[in-house]
Amino acid sequence: MSTIEIKKLTKQFGAFTAVRDADLRVDAGEVVCLLGPSGCGKTTTLRMIAGLERATSGDVVIAGQRMNELPPQKRDIAMVFQFYALYPALSVGQNISMPLHYEGLSKADADARVMRVAKIMHLDTVLDRMPNQISEGEKQRLAVARAIVRDPNCFLFDEPLSRLDVELRHSMRGQIKEVLTGLSKATVIVTHDQLEALTMASRIAIMKDGLIEQVGTPHDVFAKPSNVFVASFIGTPQMNLVEGILKSFTDGKASVVVAGQDLTIGADPAVSRLRPSKVTIGIRPRAFVVSQDRARDTIAAQAELIEPMGAETLIHARTTDGGDIRVVVPREKRVRVGESLHLRPDVRQTHFFGEDGRAVRA
Ligand code: ATP
Repeated sequence: MSTIEIKKLTKQFGAFTAVRDADLRVDAGEVVCLLGPSGCGKTTTLRMIAGLERATSGDVVIAGQRMNELPPQKRDIAMVFQFYALYPALSVGQNISMPLHYEGLSKADADARVMRVAKIMHLDTVLDRMPNQISEGEKQRLAVARAIVRDPNCFLFDEPLSRLDVELRHSMRGQIKEVLTGLSKATVIVTHDQLEALTMASRIAIMKDGLIEQVGTPHDVFAKPSNVFVASFIGTPQMNLVEGILKSFTDGKASVVVAGQDLTIGADPAVSRLRPSKVTIGIRPRAFVVSQDRARDTIAAQAELIEPMGAETLIHARTTDGGDIRVVVPREKRVRVGESLHLRPDVRQTHFFGEDGRAVRA
């Protein structure tokens, strides 16, 4: 069974801990993206799974077998790197068939496998060309074709699309996801691009400073971030994280002071467990009802900068206590710089975080 498990996996480089106590299980047919800012330990985690880096402590288990002592070639993994190297003197077809070299297949079987994979990756019409005669997108697909031509235990991808331009990335995300879904293998993809993770992953593991902060489906990490870091990292434009004071909680509503204003807003029942305290309130830029007229339980702010984004408009608004709030409205909503706005947070999309930065949720 194709599975990848890491248990309390830790990597130290001298006194520096690059990955700390990482726990993760990837099942057959699952694609898990390791996502996080530069230097958070994504590649080091992947390299430990591959056997390219020795773990300081913890275990790597692939297909139920502890792999810590095994070199990469004995782990039966197919990897696709950011800087994939194609054999320049071999044709596309020969490049695809290279990994089959040691499998002892008959020529007919090997040719059939190459053709099957070439068809999946839409390379069947360029099999006789040389790598310098194909496009960047085709080169990328060739790198993936070489990985899937064998039948390995699992797949590891390190920033597989970062060399492609925006449009090509967009179409390749879908294509790779489709191919991986059909293969029933455990797959780990490293990326720093949240859109890539949100579109390709069954689950996302979000890392920061060597720690896995949250593992969840793309929906969960977006809709139920477990702490302020995940909340601010996932979603564009970034979620607003506004400091506030929780005064009381009654009948499903929290009375808070936010941006120097008193506000009563619906909140998760778990907020009732908090004593009057400092809180951080997270509101996504698209989760406001925006009115130009004064209204109860709204945050007053002044439009300071207006950025058209096509179908939507991003407004940077300044609250009365000097804070910055990002608001996204449909293009049709006319707002002028300097105008007073009254922002009502959508109850269902308002997140409370305690003083420790953790989400307060039932
Ligand atoms: P990026 O997105 O920039 O590739 P990453 O999340 O993949 O970042 P890693 O490459 O895993 O990050 O590196 C994690 C940390 O470990 C970084 O601070 C990096 O400088 C450090 N590091 C990585 N390899 C070594 C090494 N061989 N010796 C010392 N420190 C290292």
